[in-house]
Order: sequence, then structure tokens, then C-alpha cells
Amino acid sequence: MDAVEAAIRLMEDNPLFNAGKGAVFTYDGKNELDASIMDGSNMKAGSVAGVRSVRHPISLARAVMEHSPHVMLIGEGAEAFARERDVEFAAPEYFHTEERWRQLQDALAGEAQGELQARGYFGTVGAVALDASGHLAAATSTGGMTGKRWGRVGDSPIIGAGTYANARCAVSCTGHGEFYIRACAAHAICMGVTELHQSLADAAEQVINREIPQLGGSGGAIALCADGTFAMPFNTEGMYRGWIDADDGCHVRIWRDD
Ligand code: ASP
Repeated sequence: MDAVEAAIRLMEDNPLFNAGKGAVFTYDGKNELDASIMDGSNMKAGSVAGVRSVRHPISLARAVMEHSPHVMLIGEGAEAFARERDVEFAAPEYFHTEERWRQLQDALAGEAQGELQARGYFGTVGAVALDASGHLAAATSTGGMTGKRWGRVGDSPIIGAGTYANARCAVSCTGHGEFYIRACAAHAICMGVTELHQSLADAAEQVINREIPQLGGSGGAIALCADGTFAMPFNTEGMYRGWIDADDGCHVRIWRDD
């Protein structure tokens, strides 16, 4: 849990990713942040959606799990809870980046020409980890989708959709959230492993590269099993991904054929 939270916090601070600073903009020009975390060893989970002034939404999600009787808090209520905890706040302007602002202007121009709103520009961040005791954890953080409206919540803060972990499997997803919610994507991959006895690679491939594209969605996932096997399927042009193992250190990949 410490490792996935730490990894996500770094990426939330990095403006290159669509989480924390550098999050995409809503239709109204705001940053509304979603995050979730799950402990596979006890299946406890916490999540937040639509927060606007918390620097590390992932840490707030963990606080919800550890210090509230609830799993998911949204908007002003989540921020009221954050004020009761030792959670760092940031002014709404902190999250602003010019690149994301330009992407919103492009999306608004596209909408004016009749294109669908809520564009991709994926870049949600996720982390899964396996510790020396064989326990798994998963976490996801995002600004959602550019041009999202009306308090839209994607898959990332929904336990079972964007994030899931149990004793055998941990998953974090990225992609067009509406499809990931409908497919219960992260949970479906874990159930493929634990109930259908599929290999992790087969279960992840089935959900990410078959079921969701059949519904019309695109994206990817990172998935890790208690035996140390992992899968990182995606059907976008690339997916920034990396892993570290006990024996041979750090690996980073971007495109499909890397
Ligand atoms: N899944 C996220 C959402 O729909 C977006 C992303 O993965 O970039 O909110």
C-alpha cells in the first residue's frame, strides 16, 4: 500500500500525467480529480471523486479507507473530510497546465463542429504492487477526460471498474471510463484469474482487448498476480508503463513494439 501510494504521489506531482498537477480540464475549465486505492490482503478500499483542491487525491483515498467508515467520498464532502485529516491542499490554479488548457480548447472547438465531447488524452496513472508477504495492492489517480461535464465520474475511483485487488490479483485501468465502468473491468480481470482460472495474460487480454473494444471503448490496464506474473495490455498507440522486480531492476516501455 505504501509503494502504490508513493508511486502515484510522484506522478500526481508530475505535470506530464493526467493526475494531480497536469490533470485535464472539465468543460467548465476546472480540474476535478478522482482516485482510488485497494488493499488485496483484506479487500479494504478507499476512493474520492470530483475533488478540486487536494494535492494528492490518492492519499485522500487512502485516508477514506483507513479513517472513515466509508469507501467513496465525493466533491465538497470529500474535501471537508480532507480538512479533518492531515491532507495537503493546493489552490485550484496549482493544477493548471497550458498543454491541458490547449487540449480543452481543441475539444471545445471540435464540439462546435459536431464531434463528440469528452475526449481521451488519456494519461491516468496507476500502480500495482506485490510485497514480500505475497500481499497485493492497486491504486489509480486521474483528472478524468477532457471536457467532462455535469460532475461526470469515470472508472478510476470506482472500485471494480478502474481499480481492484484481492488475494490473487491487482489491477489498475486507464481508458475511456464509461466503457470500463460497464465492463467492471478491473474486477472482471481478477475474476478471470480467481474464478475462471485463466492466466492473468488471458484474463486481461479478454477484458481489455476484446470485451471493451467490442463495446466501442479503448484503453489499457496494468495487472499483477500473487505469483509475480504481470500483464499490461492496451489497444491505444502506446501506454507509458514500467516495472521493477527483485532481480533485474527497472524497465520502462512506451509503444506496443518496445
Ligand atoms: N479512465 C479515465 C476516465 O475515464 C481516463 C484515463 O484513463 O485517462 O476518467
